[in-house]
Amino acid sequence: MAGMTSSARPYLNRRLAEFGTTIFAEMSALAASTGAINLGQGFPDTDGPEEIREAAVRALRDGRGNQYPPGPGVPELRSAIAAHQLRRYGLSWDPGTEVLVTAGATEAIAASLLALLERGDEVVALEPYYDSYAASIAMAGGRRVPVTLRPHEGAFRLDLDELRAAVTDRTRLLLINTPHNPTGTVLTRDELAAVAELAVERDLLVVTDEVYEHLVFDDAEHTPLATFPGMRERTVTIGSAGKTYSFTGWKVGWVTGTPELVTAVRSAKQFLTYVASGPFQYAVAEALALPDAYFEAFRQDMQTKRDILAAGLAEAGFKVFDTAGTYFITTDIRPLGETDGFAFCRSLPERAGVVAIPNAVFYDHREAGAPFVRFAFCKRASVLEEAASRLKTAAAARG
Ligand SMILES: *Cc1c(COP(=O)(O)O)cnc(C)c1O
Repeated sequence: MAGMTSSARPYLNRRLAEFGTTIFAEMSALAASTGAINLGQGFPDTDGPEEIREAAVRALRDGRGNQYPPGPGVPELRSAIAAHQLRRYGLSWDPGTEVLVTAGATEAIAASLLALLERGDEVVALEPYYDSYAASIAMAGGRRVPVTLRPHEGAFRLDLDELRAAVTDRTRLLLINTPHNPTGTVLTRDELAAVAELAVERDLLVVTDEVYEHLVFDDAEHTPLATFPGMRERTVTIGSAGKTYSFTGWKVGWVTGTPELVTAVRSAKQFLTYVASGPFQYAVAEALALPDAYFEAFRQDMQTKRDILAAGLAEAGFKVFDTAGTYFITTDIRPLGETDGFAFCRSLPERAGVVAIPNAVFYDHREAGAPFVRFAFCKRASVLEEAASRLKTAAAARG
């Protein structure tokens, strides 16, 4: 038709129009241009265990994984994933049919939603969301229904009545994340039991993102949703080597579940990356078999880092929420006389030489997240101390 040129129509389709560029790109660019310390994106500034790096080098040199690995992942890794879940949680999965290796948890999330949703299906998810959930639900043609975690006695908590009320006849699945990014909340056994009961009662599928399974602090405990009664047959559990072994660039993730669920997810996954990270899969197989001492030392180290940053943020005048797990501390900026996390984070690199992320980007109800700002503590202690000192100096200058 005359007048209908291609430029009259935006290139990015309507499903993805709201997901143009991520806040991480904007904030990392600000970090680069101002020389600020980047506590925005969650990646460690030191690499994981030397012997695991060497295992990747060995695999590469020995010609293991340099060509397409098997679609479901190399057998060594699938066995190691199953053995790890059995050892830690008593969950028994058949490496042949109940484990699927993916290109990080990100692909596992996308493939699960693409496989399990029909157009218009509702997905109930905890808000604030991990950054890829909303886009993956949109790509799968689903509709997201947020249940907002709210501050209660110093931490963000799930309101189980709100969760129940969010489920309708159109709900197909619950998308759960514990330990939770960005709030640092770890759902308790009682909360998880209630989530499980609801899923069984309403016959819902559950996709649970447990990439921070090893990062729980103090006396918090991580319990996989798949261990609760009635959950094994309806739950897709997602894990990743990135966060647990400090190799976020390797992009080795996985899915565990019944053969029917794993086969469905694999049907979508085979047309996304097909396969990925060949030599790294062999290295991660060795990482999963590390002794308990590795996981304990890693947890202790991250807990110390959390404490350094939490103390620094509190001294600089932030309200600091309890952080029971993950790489992140969420703060409230209102005690600083600020209300808009976006404006705060845009000016922080210039004012204080530190980059943080406004939690509002992880909300549909932007106003509910407006005063909250996230800082990553997966950095060297000296970097965290320097960041804290800069924030204190900037706070003092404002008087
Ligand atoms: C980092 C992260 C992911 C992505 O993991 P990859 O293995 O790097 O793809 C998924 N979910 C949450 C909650 C994360 O924090």
